[in-house]
Amino acid sequence: MSPVIDFHVHVGRSEMWKPWVFEWAANNLNEQDRILGPEQYLNSIAASKETLEKHLDECGVDYAVVLAESSPITTGITPNDYVRDFCRGSRRLIPFCNINPHLETRPGLELERLVTQDGFRGIKIYPTYQHFFPNDARMYPMYAVAQSLGIPLMVHTGSSVFRGAKLKFGDPLTLDDVAVDFPNLKIVMAHSGRGFWYDRAFFLSRLHENVYMEIAGLPPHKLLEYFPEFERNADKIIFGSDWPGMPYIKRNLEVIRGLVLKQNTLDKVLGANAARVLGLS
Ligand SMILES: [Zn+2]
Repeated sequence: MSPVIDFHVHVGRSEMWKPWVFEWAANNLNEQDRILGPEQYLNSIAASKETLEKHLDECGVDYAVVLAESSPITTGITPNDYVRDFCRGSRRLIPFCNINPHLETRPGLELERLVTQDGFRGIKIYPTYQHFFPNDARMYPMYAVAQSLGIPLMVHTGSSVFRGAKLKFGDPLTLDDVAVDFPNLKIVMAHSGRGFWYDRAFFLSRLHENVYMEIAGLPPHKLLEYFPEFERNADKIIFGSDWPGMPYIKRNLEVIRGLVLKQNTLDKVLGANAARVLGLS
C-alpha cells in the first residue's frame, strides 16, 4: 500500500495572513466551521504540530509537505524559521522553505544554508505573489543548488484571487526554460496552471521527465473535465489540498477516490509519485 501524501499544506497563526486571505478562506468553510471563523479554525489546528498531525490522522494522510511563504504585499508571511521549528522532530511533516528574490541578495547560498543547516527538504516559490518570472536569471543560482542537492522545486502556477497577485507570473510556460536548463531538477507545478493554463501544465509534464502537475486547490470532481487524459499522465500527477484555505482534505480524497480511475493511478497520484519526488523510501 502506498502512502497518502498531501503535497500542499500551509501552517501558521492567523496574524501571519492578510485579511483578504481570511475572507476567502471563510467562504470555503462549511456552516459549522464558519460560525467558529477562519481565525479559530486556523489557530486551533494549523498552529501546532500535534493538532495538525492529529488532523492528518483523521483525514488518512501519512505525510504532508508544509510550506513557508514570504509574500508581504499579497498573502502574508510564514517564516522559514517558523516552518523549520514547526516540523522539527516530526517524521511525517516535510518542510519546504521559500526564498523571495526581492528580499534575498544571494538566493543560491541561502537555499544551500536552509537545506544543509535547517533541514528543509524542498523549496516552494511564489512568482504570482512575489512578482517575478520563474525563468528570471536571478533565480538560476537557486535552481542550480536545488538540482545539485536533489531537492524538488515547487512553483505556484495559475490563478489567484488574492489582492496584489499578478497572474502573468503564473504562466507554466516559463518553466519550460527552467526544465530545459536544469534537466535533473524536479519541478512541481502547484495548481497545474489553474484557470487558463491547464493544457500547458499537462503538456509540460508530459514533455519533461522531471516536471510534475500538482492539483491543490482544484475542485476534485472536475479533474477529469480539466484533464480528460488524466489516466495517461498517472506517473506525473500529485495530490495536494492547499489546506487550510481549502479546508476539507478528507472530503477531497473521497471525491478523488470516487473518480473513474484505475486503483494503480489513484495510488500513484495520492502518494507514490510524491514519495518518489520527495525521496521517501
Ligand atoms: Zn497554497
